[in-house]
Amino acid sequence: MNQRMYGLGSKRSVIREIFEFGKKRAQEVGAENVYDFSLGNPSVNPPQQVEDVLTQLLREENPTALHGYTSAQGDLTVRRAISDYITKTHGVPCDPDYIYMTCGAAASLVISLSAVCEEGDEVITFAPYFTEYKVFAETAGAKLVALASEPDTFQIDFNLLEKSVGAKTAAVLVNSPNNPSGVVYSEETIRKLADLLRRKSAETGRTIYLVTDEPYRELVYGGVKVPYLTAYYKDTIVCYSYSKSLSLPGERIGYIFVNPQADRAKEIYLAVCGAGRAHGYVCAPSLFQKMIARCQGITSDVSVYEKNRDLLVGALRGYGFRCVQPGGAFYLFVKSPEQDANAFCERAKKYDLLLVPGDDFGCPGYVRIAYCVSPEMIKRSLPAFEKLAGEYSL
Ligand code: PLP
Repeated sequence: MNQRMYGLGSKRSVIREIFEFGKKRAQEVGAENVYDFSLGNPSVNPPQQVEDVLTQLLREENPTALHGYTSAQGDLTVRRAISDYITKTHGVPCDPDYIYMTCGAAASLVISLSAVCEEGDEVITFAPYFTEYKVFAETAGAKLVALASEPDTFQIDFNLLEKSVGAKTAAVLVNSPNNPSGVVYSEETIRKLADLLRRKSAETGRTIYLVTDEPYRELVYGGVKVPYLTAYYKDTIVCYSYSKSLSLPGERIGYIFVNPQADRAKEIYLAVCGAGRAHGYVCAPSLFQKMIARCQGITSDVSVYEKNRDLLVGALRGYGFRCVQPGGAFYLFVKSPEQDANAFCERAKKYDLLLVPGDDFGCPGYVRIAYCVSPEMIKRSLPAFEKLAGEYSL
């Protein structure tokens, strides 16, 4: 048996443990009395257009073509639609031959990292970070190097990055809007990052690829702008997903975009095709690829997330909790009032508040609250948060 795979399969994630606990508690005390903030499952419906297009496709298209294999990199019409949308929206040159359709961001990431890393390379990312990054980097034969971020803003700590990039660095992996902090990297951060990577690539004689994980690109509030990284740094690989923007996480659809102007772009793209093949993806789901071609530029109604954010941030700060104002995604990263965030989460459980400790996100001392839930649940949960704060005399 492969010990690494056994390890991955036999250890349930902390988030899953908490979610299972919530289901058990719901049977005991009633679902309306359990405040489960553990999972990042979108709480708003997909846009009506998704259903309309799917119905249309099922009615009008030839079923063997509709459900058949597409080419490995994805249906050309679909890639063309995405490529046109990228150029129109972000003003960067794109090309269908540099788009690779995937089963969501997770697949985009493991494929992209496998494409750019050799055994023993390093992938640098910034804490807090999505828990699966370590698994994806190690699957690519690389080591994940997680750097602490600036403590009050969760923007990149450039002194630390300066010291950490070296000859082994194959890629820098960023995620903005961020899971779990909700922080969006400012344009200044992106410019500095691009400058540093250009300089380090020249110094080490090795192109450092910037891999950007973007399932939350459209989930931003109050006019916050998410800079398009390809426009700032040419050696960028975009890992996009429709899981959150169209509320379709179970359908597994996304793409990789290799900048045609990147260093050795064609070879990197072919390595992406090879990595997809090696990981056994064959092609992304055909029906959903074809739906995507007709739903470019459409998103679920994300306004409820903004209302949830405002409600929670306002109330929690009022009770004395500290958190960075999230600009996007649907997570709030709250400073634990005691050093051990696991102990804090256990205490929160007494009030049936299910929160996730920051340790698995590489950031002990914080907890994540996923506010992709109904506003009614948030309102019902507030007295419990207030009592919890009272335990710490905040
Ligand atoms: N990256 C981040 C930051 C995420 O939060 C998630 C899912 O929650 C993923 C990647 C995986 O997304 P997908 O469902 O598109 O594979």
